Amino acid sequence: MNAFEAANHYISKASRIMNLGPRVERLLLSLEAEHHVTIPIERDSGELAVFSGYRFQHNSARGPTKGGLRFHPTVDADEVRALATLMTWKTAVVNVPFGGAKGGITCDPSELSQGELERVTRKFVERISQEIGPQRDIPAPDVNTNAQVMAWIMDQYSRQHGFAPGVVTGKPVELHGSEGREAATGYGVICVAENFLHDSGKCLKDATVAIQGFGNVGLFAALFAKEHGAKVVAVSDVSGGVANRDGLDVSALAELARSRRSLAEYESDGASPITNEALLTCEADVLIPAALGGVLTPEVAREVRAKVIVEAANAPTFPEADEIFEQRGITVIPDILANAGGVTVSYFEWTQNLQCLRWTEREVNSRLQQIMTDAYGTIRGLVQSRKLGWRTAAYIVALGRVAKAAMLRGV
Ligand code: NAD
Repeated sequence: MNAFEAANHYISKASRIMNLGPRVERLLLSLEAEHHVTIPIERDSGELAVFSGYRFQHNSARGPTKGGLRFHPTVDADEVRALATLMTWKTAVVNVPFGGAKGGITCDPSELSQGELERVTRKFVERISQEIGPQRDIPAPDVNTNAQVMAWIMDQYSRQHGFAPGVVTGKPVELHGSEGREAATGYGVICVAENFLHDSGKCLKDATVAIQGFGNVGLFAALFAKEHGAKVVAVSDVSGGVANRDGLDVSALAELARSRRSLAEYESDGASPITNEALLTCEADVLIPAALGGVLTPEVAREVRAKVIVEAANAPTFPEADEIFEQRGITVIPDILANAGGVTVSYFEWTQNLQCLRWTEREVNSRLQQIMTDAYGTIRGLVQSRKLGWRTAAYIVALGRVAKAAMLRGV
């Protein structure tokens, strides 16, 4: 099963339970548009390099499409298709007025200078500028893209179409970005984890947490977990990880990551190295995959020791592994709920841009908490009343909203 088939597997399962029928299912499984472009740039050496770029739009029934832009050597059409689809269901779960899209450029940013990265980004925007826009499709940060990349996107698009900050979210706060956007995905992940533990008669304060990935999402998840009293016992990045059963010094690790150094360089009394594979099966109450997709394979699923998995990354769990978790009584809070904090604050940023307003961080966080808690509550209601798994319940909520909008608008 490839990534796109895996994403659609859950749709088909929910659609069967809802009796949506083949007509609606077919409509919701197909993408509206797939833009594939080449991106030629001049390297600093004067050589020409050509990259592949993708912007795929899955479904716009509920509003302009929305989704991140990823820079990674493994990006391909199949992955972008799967991630675009996920965005449709995610925006529907939190009920923000967007559809789903995703973009990616097949490149290794660690091998590009800052100037080359800027030229790649600007050329990509030049090539897809007719396909994005504040009322059409709005990119955001994802793996290996950040506020600076979003600033280049805004600037390049505005050069061609006039000043349009609402074309992209996750911009720097100094350039029409929103307070709280950078931390939003990690904040939402911990908000959901806390609600779940509370409902299970436990408390985040007494819990141990292991986090794979220490970038935008993983780092803030670790900081918020610690702030809420949890013991963060293991974290990792692409270089490997560190673990300490008594709890890691998350602030020191965050400082290291912010100075662009890898976790492999971290040294402290009590912390020992841990591989990315071992982290997934280490002793912890809560496991938070926050790096790439497809890490929770059936083999890993049999060894996982956590009691709950909160999917901060997109599509970290194979469908076969999902079934193993169900059999083993391990709850999986799915990506389309768990990491929806990012797109929620992106929605706030877009709203502020369109209205030329600026909200305070407190305003942003309190609205975010409200939306995440409401979405969590709606899905928990279905889990309890229909005895469903969390992922199936989340897809039923999302599918219901998208199918309704699509039917009202007409084929
Ligand atoms: P990022 O580039 O900021 O960080 C990625 C982290 O993963 C880094 O610490 C990196 O070293 C690590 N990593 C990369 N390859 C790895 C590997 N093979 N093994 C272990 N670790 C590895 O990216 P991010 O924005 O934090 O995104 C992380 C995940 O969260 C992705 O799946 C992304 O799609 C998802 N997500 C991000 C957002 C957002 O707002 N940025 C929102 C929703 C979902």
